[in-house]
Amino acid sequence: MNPELKYDVVVAGAGVAGIAAAVAAARRGMKTALIEKQTIIGGLATSGLIFVYLPLCDGKGTQVTFGISEELLRRSKNYGPYDLPEEWGGPVGGKAYPSRLATYFNPAGFTLELDKILKEAGVELFLETMVVDAEKDCSDAVKSITVANASGMFKIAGCRFIDTTGDASLLRRAGGEYETGVNFVSPWWIENAPGATRYHIIDDLHIEPILPIEAQPKAENPETGECATWFSRTAWELIRNRYEKLYKDDPEQRRKFFPVHLPAMPQFRKIAAAKCVTMLESGQQNQHLDTSVGLYGDWRRSGWVWETPYGTLLPEKTNGMLVAGRCMGAIGDAWEAFRVIPSAAMTGEIAGVAAALSIDKKCDPKELEIENLRGELRKSNFRFHLEEVGLEAGK
Ligand SMILES: Cc1cc2nc3c(=O)[nH]c(=O)nc-3n(C[C@H](O)[C@H](O)[C@H](O)COP(=O)(O)OP(=O)(O)OC[C@H]3O[C@@H](n4cnc5c(N)ncnc54)[C@H](O)[C@@H]3O)c2cc1C
Repeated sequence: MNPELKYDVVVAGAGVAGIAAAVAAARRGMKTALIEKQTIIGGLATSGLIFVYLPLCDGKGTQVTFGISEELLRRSKNYGPYDLPEEWGGPVGGKAYPSRLATYFNPAGFTLELDKILKEAGVELFLETMVVDAEKDCSDAVKSITVANASGMFKIAGCRFIDTTGDASLLRRAGGEYETGVNFVSPWWIENAPGATRYHIIDDLHIEPILPIEAQPKAENPETGECATWFSRTAWELIRNRYEKLYKDDPEQRRKFFPVHLPAMPQFRKIAAAKCVTMLESGQQNQHLDTSVGLYGDWRRSGWVWETPYGTLLPEKTNGMLVAGRCMGAIGDAWEAFRVIPSAAMTGEIAGVAAALSIDKKCDPKELEIENLRGELRKSNFRFHLEEVGLEAGK
């Protein structure tokens, strides 16, 4: 093994969660590597063309999520035409995003800003590099990963690993357990559509959901390569159908309506949730959870706020590593709530801070004292329980 390729913290997957994790670790002085199989960073939020940074507030005027998630929200608009809403106390419903602490962003612009954030933090980024295996020691702790890129296959060693691959692929390579989710093909892509008023990216470019939910093809086994191929090709077929129907009666429509950019990764919402020490479940919103290390406002319902137990980031049977983002330990309705950008960034930061702290304390992430972790997260303005932001548990 190349002795240079040894890091304090190795993060697999440069989506929003992985970027937050790597930045959090690097800002704490950790030598940090971030491994990404694509050429673009940002994951679904950028190459997946998901351009809505969902809210950091409870939908009733109270901000609940802070830290790097807020930093990314504010910086997501630096190379794009959007502003944060001046007033964001409003409810969900018809005007979900503009009326909450949320924003649209331009995926290309967000990519450029995310790269700047990684550079400022000193994270070493490996692009076009895929995690293909993981090696563990006799205490079930991950010690190195095998990656493949244009240079060949090689190992990267680390003291702590964070799986932010969205599909738990590092955990799965390490033999960890997971649950899968149900998905439907409902593509978002960028099209030229003059005068469109819905889902603008810039003036004439917009994104158009095309099928009602009951008509969307259902995807089984989203964690497999076969399903990923089927999923993308089915999406392309649906998009082709849209234009063929549109052009049938009036071929001139092709001068106004045409596809401009397709997602560069399958738009699965839920692929694999790691089986963790704690699994966040349906119905746990607005509850006091003793081991919470972060607060998150449900993007679907005003007034629903979730406390985030630390154990949801700790894979049950694998040591030396954490998970974050949409492959964290959340199932049912909790997975539906947490599988989005602001919570991915929040859980990423928690995982990065926990990885760094566990190195400093010379213990496994599972052995960290919650109060020590909270102490570090408070430096990023984190809140942990409902009452800390003036809300009441059980309501
Ligand atoms: C159709 C659709 C609409 C959505 N709408 C919204 C919305 O409006 N607002 C919102 O906030 N959220 C929305 N979401 C969800 C949101 O975009 C994602 O859940 C969120 O961006 C996930 O971030 P993540 O970092 O956890 O994972 P990902 O974005 O999946 O990032 C994982 C990264 O890991 C990389 N990777 C994977 N495997 C490997 C490997 N083996 N080696 C190296 N790298 C690897 C991937 O290439 C990727 O870059 C939507 C999702 C979908 C599918």
